[in-house]
Amino acid sequence: MTLLTFRFAPSPNGELHLGHAYSALLNRKLAKASGGSLLLRIEDIDTTRCTPQFEAGVLADLKWLGFGWEEPVRRQSEHFAEYQAVLDRLIRDDLVYPAFMSRGEIRAFIADSEKRGRDWPRDPDGVPLYPSADKALPVRERKRRVAENAPFAWRLDVAAAVSRIGKGLTWAEFTDETLSTTRSVEARPQDWGDVIVARRDIPTSYHLAVVIDDALQAISHVVRGQDLFSATGVQRLLQELLGLPQPAYFHHRLILGSDGRKLSKSLGDTGLAKLRDAGASPDDIGRMVGL
Ligand code: GLU
Repeated sequence: MTLLTFRFAPSPNGELHLGHAYSALLNRKLAKASGGSLLLRIEDIDTTRCTPQFEAGVLADLKWLGFGWEEPVRRQSEHFAEYQAVLDRLIRDDLVYPAFMSRGEIRAFIADSEKRGRDWPRDPDGVPLYPSADKALPVRERKRRVAENAPFAWRLDVAAAVSRIGKGLTWAEFTDETLSTTRSVEARPQDWGDVIVARRDIPTSYHLAVVIDDALQAISHVVRGQDLFSATGVQRLLQELLGLPQPAYFHHRLILGSDGRKLSKSLGDTGLAKLRDAGASPDDIGRMVGL
């Protein structure tokens, strides 16, 4: 039997809350039940929002919870050269293009178009898709702007990528926490438009780093929140383009606040450190999240 490998991959840009605790403890439970490995990955590519203080808090909370990860911890900010090498392949293969528009320019462009009565398409999270102007720029103009040091992000040319693959993509999604049955889900990367694969100041993005790391760490089972369900379509496309293996996925329920909304990192009383200080035990946390 092949060994199963699970991972919990928090971003240290805030404090862990009950939603993270559920994800971490569910991964632990599944790894234990299958005799598999349990890895911790710190997703800290956003070096402005992720801080050593938050990371120390994440590690302390996970230790207290009894998460029990295997060493070494993979810290994404220490692997930019690896991401750059993969990005270079996408550049060479003409699957990405430099996107110069700033957030303000994108907003203005879309507002202008909507004023003229066109509903602008949005991604599954409700964010407007990136306008196609930069993709249509003549190569000479692109080169000129890059030579002039105009800031840009690398975006995936999703239409080119999908046609390069030449077939529909799916992923295997477990139907419940017992991980006994999977169903096949159609990947719809087009719904996200031309996603960023490398940000202005970093040679990667969440999507690129996560598929590289899941492959490098030989993750067999990605167990994470329902909020990342449809983003899996983008990740399947990247895996296929890069020839990476595909894990099986389980997107678990989200722990919601008393207002019925997703918990955020600017939290009130659902933060793990606060609950611990108020006298909660790790077992109490398990009960609170239904495990
Ligand atoms: N780093 C992501 C987060 O904290 C999780 C990514 C994943 O599990 O794929 O939301």
